[in-house]
Amino acid sequence: MLTDKHVVIIGGDARQLEIIRKLSALDAKISMVGFDQLNDGFIGASKQTMDDIEWSTVDAILLPVSGVSMDGKIETIFSNETIELELDHLKKTPNHCVVYSGISNDYLDHCTATADRSLVKLMERDDVAIYNSIPTAEGTVMMAIQHTDITIHRAKVAVLGLGRVGMSVARTFNALGAEVKVGANASHQLARITEMGLTPFDTSNLKDELKDIDLCINTIPALVLTSNVLTEMPLHTLIIDLASKPGGTDFRYAEKRGMKALLAPGLPGIVAPKTAGQILAEVLAVLLTKESIH
Ligand code: NAP
Repeated sequence: MLTDKHVVIIGGDARQLEIIRKLSALDAKISMVGFDQLNDGFIGASKQTMDDIEWSTVDAILLPVSGVSMDGKIETIFSNETIELELDHLKKTPNHCVVYSGISNDYLDHCTATADRSLVKLMERDDVAIYNSIPTAEGTVMMAIQHTDITIHRAKVAVLGLGRVGMSVARTFNALGAEVKVGANASHQLARITEMGLTPFDTSNLKDELKDIDLCINTIPALVLTSNVLTEMPLHTLIIDLASKPGGTDFRYAEKRGMKALLAPGLPGIVAPKTAGQILAEVLAVLLTKESIH
């Protein structure tokens, strides 16, 4: 239980509601900032402004998945107010206060480091990334269905990268009956692809490997689908680029060549915001409970 734990939840989207629900059930004292247009009442949670918060009692601060902007602004879909996290807010918190954010940037890194507060980047955690790969794979299936006129069954699919997302995506398309090949750059990953019953190939050889592909799904956060590679691919190939912005595709060249290439960020929050919120809520509940034991 999180009885007597004071958590400030600032801004965000539908995912934050699952977190509030979970932490409220665990009896935490929750201050919600940036939720003035939200009608639901949560037990133990009160709507406040940044100025109302009693920072000296705060045990944890939860920022949205997107973190803060480079000038400290925090996005919220539940309010029109401008919300800003300032260094002074953090300085007023007790030493043990931990800041949780989906991702970070120079502003947040600087504020937490200067105030000497711990920062946990939830999206970088292996557990969160693996759980999130499930709605990501489902969202990729949705996009493949929406943007092709063929079945996934029997389609020739190439997945680039065998990380946390690549593995789930490759498995999902294989389970739907696609002919899946997976590109990786490490020998142990090529071995794993073989073990999964899929066809491995080395990403140093992309130009030759994608010549007969119907659907190419990129998860590598580096420019891999260059104009040199794209020019060898069939014109009908659909590219779904899952890698974080700017993706791994030369989109300008793909468009010039008449290929459909889609950058698809943030699929978990789009196709399954409730599940994506529950994933974060479960992990946070464990982390906050551990913090309160120490
Ligand atoms: P990850 O576990 O780090 O996987 C990335 C993979 O790419 C690793 O296997 C890495 O291999 C490989 N790689 C990196 N550079 C390479 C190169 N030049 N050639 C071949 N392989 C290369 O990351 P992840 O969690 O799967 O996430 C992948 C991307 O998807 C990230 O950009 C992430 O932000 C994004 N993402 C998007 C969504 C969405 O909704 N679109 C959802 C979740 C994540 P090594 O380990 O050998 O470097």
